[in-house]
Amino acid sequence: MNPIPLATRRSFLGGLTAGAATLGWPARGTAGEPERPLGVALCGLGNYSRGQLAPALRLTRACALRGVITGNRDKGLAWAREFGFPERNVYAYATMARLVDNPDIDIVYVVTPNALHPEHVIAAAWAGKHVICEKPMANTAADCNAMLAACRAARVRLSIGYRLHFEPHHRELRRLAREGDFGPLRRLSGGLAFTINRRVWRVEKALAGGGPLMDIGIYCVQAACLAADADGAAHATFAPVAVRAREHPKRRADLFRDVEEGITWAMEFANGASGEFSTSYNGGEDRFRAEGERGWIEFAPAFSYGGIQIRTSAGAPRIGAAPESQQALQMDDFARCVREGRESPVPGEMGRRDLVILEAIYRSAAAGGERAEVKV
Ligand code: NAD
Repeated sequence: MNPIPLATRRSFLGGLTAGAATLGWPARGTAGEPERPLGVALCGLGNYSRGQLAPALRLTRACALRGVITGNRDKGLAWAREFGFPERNVYAYATMARLVDNPDIDIVYVVTPNALHPEHVIAAAWAGKHVICEKPMANTAADCNAMLAACRAARVRLSIGYRLHFEPHHRELRRLAREGDFGPLRRLSGGLAFTINRRVWRVEKALAGGGPLMDIGIYCVQAACLAADADGAAHATFAPVAVRAREHPKRRADLFRDVEEGITWAMEFANGASGEFSTSYNGGEDRFRAEGERGWIEFAPAFSYGGIQIRTSAGAPRIGAAPESQQALQMDDFARCVREGRESPVPGEMGRRDLVILEAIYRSAAAGGERAEVKV
């Protein structure tokens, strides 16, 4: 991870003031007027920003798109015209420190390749901005520690883009886990796979940190922790005690040079729950199942942006209409966390927990499937 340039130290100190100010902000307008939505700047204007987050920010009520951070200034200016924010709110990655002087922006949403999350999150924190960071939080748990420390020092909030925590079918899974309709959910399974046919940053270890486990297997890890956690009191750090893993043989070693093409792993929880999962960049799969002594719940598709379907042994549960955008719910919740001074249900600590689990899965695979302990 690159160190923060010394030149930004002044901005950092200024940022402490700006960050503290935003914690208690904004004041209400005249009676009956809605509060001003918090300003979001998207950092990285690739597929996820373009296809999901920008449209979602047209639906949000507690926050709105007010700026961008991009390597391509012309693209940033085109976004400014399209989304109606001033050109002064277009930044380059190298000028993020200047955000400290911009009261339009309250939240920076980091949507760059995984390896760049630490430097972009830390730069945003130093500029006194609250941060949402896409998954996986970083390539290593050590980088997560640095990101958490920077956000703590700057007194800004950090959350991870775990959109499914706000999705009604996944909320039903959480309810079942905690209320125990089917007894404790003890047998878990699932898989998520899609096919990559060309060299993109997702198959370069230096940028992605790993292969499909880092990118999409993380959703199975998330769902497993949610289902196994019957208590919920320490949900952000609730984790298996150990994992075992085996990498799949590579069918296209030319494409997957230094990352796994696919991997299968088992998770073992202290309360007796266990799970078997797999993920791959060579196939198509999207499912999750959790079973207790008195029943089961099954998701297919389980992790997509929309159209998630569930079945249970007790029939179809009554769940409200699917939201128009999971991401809009997720970003609005974070904006309200910032306003109300409360912790996000998907905080940086949860992103770090998942990296600790993923690192243990890779350790086990490298050791030929030996049991690897997870110490969050
Ligand atoms: P993408 O390749 O479409 O976009 C990445 C952006 O980063 C591009 O605009 C690119 O120009 C920019 N960038 C800056 N420096 C770069 C560099 N050195 N190399 C390559 N690109 C660079 O990727 P994406 O699909 O938008 O994914 C971005 C992040 O969002 C990833 O962390 C990914 O895991 C995450 N993501 C999350 C979800 C979700 O459902 N939560 C879905 C998709 C992606």
